[in-house]
Formats: sequence, structure tokens, C-alpha cells
Amino acid sequence: MNIEDMEGLDLDALGQMDNYEKKVYDQQQLIEISKALNSTLDLSTLIDSILNISLAQSQTFQIAIYLNPEIDTNDFSIHGNVIGFDIESPEKMIIPAKSPILQFFSANKKAYCYAQLMELKSQNRLKVEKELMDQFESISNDLTFIPMVNKNKVNGLVIIGPKTSGQEYISSELDFLLDLASIASIAVDNARLYQLATVDMMTKLKIHHFFQTRLREEMEKSRETGAPLSMFMTDIDHFKKFNDTYGHQQGDVVLKEVAQVLIRSARGNDVPSRYGGEEFAMILPNTSLQAAKEIAERVRKNVEKSKVKNYSGVGEDKLSVSISAGVAQFNPVLDETNKHLIEKCDKALYKAKHNGRNRVEISQDNEAK
Ligand code: GH3
Ligand code: MG
Ligand code: MG
Repeated sequence: MNIEDMEGLDLDALGQMDNYEKKVYDQQQLIEISKALNSTLDLSTLIDSILNISLAQSQTFQIAIYLNPEIDTNDFSIHGNVIGFDIESPEKMIIPAKSPILQFFSANKKAYCYAQLMELKSQNRLKVEKELMDQFESISNDLTFIPMVNKNKVNGLVIIGPKTSGQEYISSELDFLLDLASIASIAVDNARLYQLATVDMMTKLKIHHFFQTRLREEMEKSRETGAPLSMFMTDIDHFKKFNDTYGHQQGDVVLKEVAQVLIRSARGNDVPSRYGGEEFAMILPNTSLQAAKEIAERVRKNVEKSKVKNYSGVGEDKLSVSISAGVAQFNPVLDETNKHLIEKCDKALYKAKHNGRNRVEISQDNEAK
């Protein structure tokens, strides 16, 4: 609306019009935000988007988010990049799953500032643990809490610092941030469900079905773009004997550790997967055979180096295992199906076992059937 249009207008009507236009604008913003947040199912990308969008919309330069995206705990901790707050160990900032503050936010579904929570606590209307309030205060005593609520349940808590202008947040701003947080909450729930359906609970690696689907997709991409695609498969050496000696549960401890080594060495687009039992696989898009061999070799060395606590009561305090690995590069002409590529890895893996274990062997394309 320009100046000329404003002439002759009743000022009250104009105020209402602006208010109305602001609401329409906010709704459009929320639709755009919803599209952006629902465009990814990857939790860490999603969390960063929530943080960046909420930061931009809150006119503050301080933001962090408590979430519970883990499979094996219901406690909330700080995830993603903390922006502006000075927090030494964000992952150690924990809101226990049973904390009354989560029930409080579920019941009230509103934004509160730290001072309001303290006041409610002093009036005995909020029974929040002292340690938790201390934790919040260690972050800042000028925090505003915005609960992420979906289906009457809080699955996250966004904390923001004061506005850079020094002014207080007004209720329409907080309502907008609350709407944004509920969109974020739905997106987080979707991403969690996706994670539950695609990640192996025990090892945190992708499950077999997901691996096969992604491998087919990556083969298609490689065919189209000509970019190299490689993969390797690993198998723990003499694992039967390990289980027989130290027990299956101790075997599981080792299995999880080997999986962690694989996960830690995965780059952004790599797909660390549990092929089956103690056999793992890693899809390496945009990677040549030689580079894939180096990655597999690094994984092998790191597995050899890493030790786990021995809970079995038999033998040494710390235990380790070794792995053998087979590496192969996708050949768009010879590897018609993902089965061919997997067979090449399998053969190379067999060669590694045959040649003495705890080693990496590569496949040659001409070995493909
Ligand atoms: P090799 O060096 O030839 O691989 O010898 P190996 O004994 O490891 O032989 P193989 O790979 O055939 O044996 C797989 C063993 O892995 C058998 C099975 O009991 C164990 N295993 C598979 N899945 C799991 C699991 O989830 N947990 C534990 N603890 N053991 C598992
Ligand atoms: Mg095996
Ligand atoms: Mg084995």
C-alpha cells in the first residue's frame, strides 16, 4: 500500500487492514515454512532448518532446540547447531522424559519466558526440578520457551534469547512462533517415524531393505550422470568363536562398536547399512574404486584399534575384533542389477577372508558375471 492510497482512509480501518494483511502474510509464511520443513526426512538437516527459520522469525540472535530424536531414550537433549548461546556441552543439557515441565507445556501449549516459569514455580503451580531451572539459567536467564506440540504431545522445546531490538516479544509474535513450532513438531515426528522404519535399532545402521533401495537409486543416478559409484561390504572375522568364548551379548557390544566405526567414517551421502547379522555394507556415491578402497582400509584399521569393555567375566578387560572387506565399483555396462554389484563385493570379501582376514580386497569389473 503506498502513500497516495492511504489518503482519505479512516485510520482505524487502515490499522485493521494492516493487521489483516499481516495475518495473511504470516499465514503465507507458515505455508512456505511448512513446505520447506516437510521437504526433508533427514533429521539433522531438518533440525538445522528449524533452527535457521525460527531464528530468522524471532528477531533474536540466540537459539537452541531440545529434542528427542533418539531411538533408545525418551530424554530430551540439545540437538543441531546452537546459535548465539554459550553452551559448553550441548548434549549434556538434558530434560528428563518424565520432567513435569514437559507435561506443563503439553497442557498449556503456550510460550513462556524464564521469569514466568520461575514465578509459577514459586507459587507452586509448576513443580519443575531445581536442577533443570539451574540448567536453563546456565544458558541464560532471559530465555523464552516455545514448545513444539503435535497431537497434544511435546516433542521438542525451542529456546530463544531476547530480541535484538531489546523490546519484549508481543503476543502475536509468540503465537506465530508457536505455530511455526507446531509445524516443526509434525516434521520432526515424520522424520522420527521414517528413522524408525529405516534404521536398525541395535546398530543404528540402515536396514537391509533401505540399503537395497538406495543402491538401486544410486546405480540409476550413476548411469544417468556418469559419476562413479562404489561400495564395500564387511564381515567380522571369526565372530562365531568370539560369541562362543564371550557370549552373544558381548558379541552384540562389539557389533555396535563396529557399526559406530562405519557410521563415523560415512560422509554426507554415504549409506552405512546392516546387510545382515554381522555383515555391513557402505554405499559410496561419487566415489572411485581407489577412494572406496582407502575408506574401507580406514574402517578396517579403526575397527582393529577400537576396544570395547569386556562384560563377560572371561579373559581380558578390553576386547577387539577385526573385519575383512570387499570393495567394488559399479560398472554401468556389466552390472545390470544391484545383485551383480553385491556379488562383486562378496567375491572380493571372500578373497579377503581367503588371503588371511583383517584385510581389504578389491574386485575388478571383469570379474562380474
Ligand atoms: P569368518 O571370519 O569366516 O567370517 O568367521 P565367522 O565365525 O565370523 O563366520 P560367519 O561370518 O559365517 O559367522 C557369523 C556369526 O556371526 C554367526 C552368528 O552367530 C554371529 N552373528 C550374526 N549376527 C549376530 C548378532 O546380531 N549378534 C551376535 N552377537 N552375533 C551375531
Ligand atoms: Mg558372516
Ligand atoms: Mg564373520
